[in-house]
Amino acid sequence: MFKKILIANRGEIAVRILRACREMGIRTVAVYSDADKEAAHAQLADEAVYIGAASPKESYLKADALLQAALSSGADAVHPGYGFLSENASFAGMVESAQLTFIGPSAASIRAMGDKAESKIRMKEAGVPTVPGAEGLESIYAFEKAADEIGYPILVKASAGGGGKGMRIVWDANDLPEEVDAARREALHAFGDERLLIEKYIPDAHHIEFQVFGDKHGHLVHLFERECSVQRRHQKIIEETPSPLLTPELRKQMGDAAVRAAKAVGYYNAGTIEFIFDPSSSMFYFLEMNTRLQVEHPVTELTTGLDLVQWQIRVAAGEPFPYAQEQLSPRGHAIECRVYAEDPANGFLPSTGKLLQFVEPRGPGIRVDSGFRAGDTVTHFYDPMLAKLIVHAENRETAIKKMGAALREFVVHGVVTNIDFLQDVMSHPDFSNGKVSTRWVETHFNWLPTSEPSFDALVAVSLASLSMNAVNRKPGIVHEHDPYSPWKTVNGFRI
Ligand code: ADP
Repeated sequence: MFKKILIANRGEIAVRILRACREMGIRTVAVYSDADKEAAHAQLADEAVYIGAASPKESYLKADALLQAALSSGADAVHPGYGFLSENASFAGMVESAQLTFIGPSAASIRAMGDKAESKIRMKEAGVPTVPGAEGLESIYAFEKAADEIGYPILVKASAGGGGKGMRIVWDANDLPEEVDAARREALHAFGDERLLIEKYIPDAHHIEFQVFGDKHGHLVHLFERECSVQRRHQKIIEETPSPLLTPELRKQMGDAAVRAAKAVGYYNAGTIEFIFDPSSSMFYFLEMNTRLQVEHPVTELTTGLDLVQWQIRVAAGEPFPYAQEQLSPRGHAIECRVYAEDPANGFLPSTGKLLQFVEPRGPGIRVDSGFRAGDTVTHFYDPMLAKLIVHAENRETAIKKMGAALREFVVHGVVTNIDFLQDVMSHPDFSNGKVSTRWVETHFNWLPTSEPSFDALVAVSLASLSMNAVNRKPGIVHEHDPYSPWKTVNGFRI
């Protein structure tokens, strides 16, 4: 087993990984940028190495600096977390060439699945259903011809894409040239690669993905699905397992396809096969594979009882994964909400500042993965996710209730959050009926913030006012002639 692991990441996932290491008796090395000197991940690790300026490009994306930190600290393995360099095949290759272990799949698997167009071709060869579409198009005529054959609406995607960037829905043939041009520019700007692909756009689709897990001895299983259809701008907000849509037969078909897909690229460690699911036909299609741990892995952990990060470390060290597919069976229902420092009333704009209060909910079946504490500062340099709130209960109905209660208990002051928005989604009948497609937030859900101050704010102001009165009160006088009774005040707070 490894003695020391460098965590090439920050925030909640770095904290999650270092906790797993601590349980396993492995020392941890964190890396931190200028903006993260006081951050939880840097302070909780056994050692911390400074790697540069606040911007990700000058710190968490600097492969050389990260590798150097691993070597100089004497780490024997590197965990990339998610985001940053986690799906960068050349970083994985660099780590392996330096005789350290990359806690993830091989560089070759990352490369094979890294490109949407190429991975689709490989999946077709492996007999995994893919969305009807076309890759490798050059001229606008080729785009037009292919789009006509597929039929509108179509989706234009960047081959090198990720994070929902460079994606455009085209409803009408007349708009195609313009949208292709725009998508090309966006792809070039975001990924330095202007190659595009097009595919049939499935309007009321659900996003259902399968966790796969393999060891270095050729054994690979799936750990069931996650439904991630509550999205905004193709970015997930709420994830759950099991999916309210899947029948046991569909689950088996999709799970088998996921295992075939991963095996086709000789996959080991944790990965996710994403499918788009069309409820009108019950057809499912491969979207892409994420060759890393996902943000939403905790829902799978709670229902399977497996610690995925610890298993990632173990299989990276060469241990076999001991469970056969038939031995795995999930229990209960788990939901995750991503709590963001952003303002839903203001176009979901990120909100920055000092966390004056940060009180996480607690209780049976409630888990919070966060990288912040009260007093920490949320900056604009990184993703604005504050925490992941995850609940586990007997069934979906009780899990929804538990999540609603936990969200109400979550207190964050100092930045604006999406907590009210998440609560509204939780209590919406479409959500409880499992009818939420990937476009639902944008098309069905007109989130209008209340114009009144929140209940929390009213309570806080009232209590402040009463306590100011109490300071003036003489001990022992508590009757209707009490001059300091809150009901006798003549200042503005009386009403
Ligand atoms: P990215 O890598 O940028 O996240 P994906 O290919 O994984 O892009 O797609 C992200 C999201 O976009 C999916 O979860 C889904 O909501 C939507 N999407 C992608 N392809 C299609 C499609 N063919 N039809 C409908 N929605 C799609």
